[in-house]
Amino acid sequence: MNIAILSRNRNLYSTQRLIQSCIDRGHEVRVVDPLRCYMNITSEKPELHYGGEILPQFDAVIPRIGASITFYGTAVLRQFEMMGVFPVNESVAISRARDKLRSHQLLSRDGVGMPQTGFANYPGDVQDLIKMVGGAPLVIKLLEGTQGIGVVLAETRKAAESVIEAFMGLKANILVQEFIKEAGGADIRCLVIGNRVVAAMQRQAPEGEFRSNLHRGGSANLVKITPAERATALKAAKVMGLNVAGVDILRSGRGPLVMEVNSSPGLEGIEKSTEKDIAAMIVSFIEKNAKPHSTRTKGRG
Ligand code: ADP
Ligand code: MG
Repeated sequence: MNIAILSRNRNLYSTQRLIQSCIDRGHEVRVVDPLRCYMNITSEKPELHYGGEILPQFDAVIPRIGASITFYGTAVLRQFEMMGVFPVNESVAISRARDKLRSHQLLSRDGVGMPQTGFANYPGDVQDLIKMVGGAPLVIKLLEGTQGIGVVLAETRKAAESVIEAFMGLKANILVQEFIKEAGGADIRCLVIGNRVVAAMQRQAPEGEFRSNLHRGGSANLVKITPAERATALKAAKVMGLNVAGVDILRSGRGPLVMEVNSSPGLEGIEKSTEKDIAAMIVSFIEKNAKPHSTRTKGRG
């Protein structure tokens, strides 16, 4: 097959691994920088232009769109979809996953367990908002933060009030969330491909830190997940409409709680801690599922 990888940097671990797996499995592969794509969106025949040439027709596209370029990146992916190219994850599903508020609303609508979470705009209601999610300590998150940046633990009600008011003063959109203390600075990353959890790792925050992100110095280890955690991860990916997802789960006293669903999960941590060939599994998923003009949403919704 002819496969495009939408990625800004071909030297990233995940991109490299995907390129290699495509080659190993006998496919043609090309890395396409989404920011260098341009297109005539009114043309009757959708096509993508790139540095003066028209990109060839691909059979499948693997989107690896960074959080900082979600807007343009998903527009480019939508163009691929309109050309009938099979996307590993659809543009609509990626946009959903990138918006924490929207994802939480979708997950809760379908009964996926989550920490108590609130959202408000009016600073006058901050005290009630804090009460609503069970009081301090609590976690405050910027809606479009990533890699742990923009996630704050407020240990007291007073600290929570001032941080929330400060963010609101800056017109930043935030979520206020119950702090799951019993998780002990750890979370479980479940890697979902299709309707299987193919790998799972536990990430542990370093001493004195509650955020387990590997970018914040967390360490990763192989973990065995429970049937309830497996079922939760699969349901979360399904609700978001993602074929490939990294579902982050907190182990709480009341069972698995989904914190976040990532649409471009990094491969390095999970491949190294589980010794599994996730890149090959993604390419194999494409081989089994890629059909032209199969995007369910056609960019809508
Ligand atoms: P990001 O998108 O920046 O990774 P997350 O929501 O995943 O934001 O939060 C970053 C980390 O902070 C998580 O991996 C987890 O270790 C910790 N964390 C987030 N929310 C909570 C919570 N409600 N209770 C306990 N720990 C949390
Ligand atoms: Mg996270």
